[in-house]
Amino acid sequence: MAHVLVTGGAGYIGSHACKALKQAGFTPVVYDNLVTGWKDAVKFGPFEQGDLNDRVRLDQVFAKYQPTAVMHFAALSQVGEAMSQPGRYWANNVGGSLNLIEASVAAGVTDFVFSSTCATYGEHDNVVLDENTPQLPLNAYGASKRAVEDILTDFEAAHGLLSVVFRYFNVAGADPEAEVGEFHRPETHLVPLVLDAIDGKHDSLTIFGTDYDTPDGTCIRDYVHVCDLVDAHVLGLKWLQDGKGSRVFNLGTGTGFSVREVMDKAAVVTGKDVPCNTGARRAGDCTKLVSGSTRAASELGWEPRRSTLETMIHDAWKWHKTGHYEA
Ligand code: UDP
Repeated sequence: MAHVLVTGGAGYIGSHACKALKQAGFTPVVYDNLVTGWKDAVKFGPFEQGDLNDRVRLDQVFAKYQPTAVMHFAALSQVGEAMSQPGRYWANNVGGSLNLIEASVAAGVTDFVFSSTCATYGEHDNVVLDENTPQLPLNAYGASKRAVEDILTDFEAAHGLLSVVFRYFNVAGADPEAEVGEFHRPETHLVPLVLDAIDGKHDSLTIFGTDYDTPDGTCIRDYVHVCDLVDAHVLGLKWLQDGKGSRVFNLGTGTGFSVREVMDKAAVVTGKDVPCNTGARRAGDCTKLVSGSTRAASELGWEPRRSTLETMIHDAWKWHKTGHYEA
């Protein structure tokens, strides 16, 4: 079976991607430094511990497995942290990615699938966010991802590296079989924090800002189920293997939910109240991020199957109750 190098394969999205790759007939080789990932999450192929900034280690792993493609998930991804520690984002997300891209080219890999983000768009009032929307990120996380997109463009021109870039909206949910799931330490994402508040793992959820220009004053995001998201990656890989060339795709459902709507749905799904309090806006947050593109559906044939808010919270709750990783 063809090997695919999966950076960040011990993390939330990468581990789900490994399961989807294995089901699609590939062997996912996980490359992860375990700074934010978990060895326990590596269940679907070999594991190689290493850092993106370690070129010698990367070259060893490329030589050992001779992957036909790379899926690059490994990144720091917290908006709040990116505001306070931008240097880490430039060093890891940009420096590390450049190292990986150079190693990929040196190893003769031509197919590269990259995790980018809707945070590259930034704030656009009343503008439909599609792949042609100007990228004006508000934080170092979005800026670092946009920079890697630029690197990929240059490396295609110079070296023929072909890439599918996915700009994710907000990823939520978990494997419905709860083999893998979302487990960040510390946790900063809304859905797992809502579930933590519901079952008393912390006192209450702080809503970051209630004075946004939205119907209920809280931020609006477009949530997509992690399993649907990784299905798109397998389609993206096949797109490259079919010789269709480099392409950028938004991955969102086109429907936005406010922070309060997420909390209300979680209360319905779990049958429990969400203890909450209101706090200040979080620096770097956009008011509204909702995809306005159908490109992934029309060109890749992507069909989200589990991306209703109810199903995402249901699957996340199942994982929350049964699954966790040990360091
Ligand atoms: N959020 C919140 N309280 C929290 C965590 C998140 O109100 O404890 C809000 C955050 O301000 C944003 C939305 O929930 O509007 C989604 O945040 P998350 O960190 O999950 O994803 P992001 O949009 O930053 O990628």
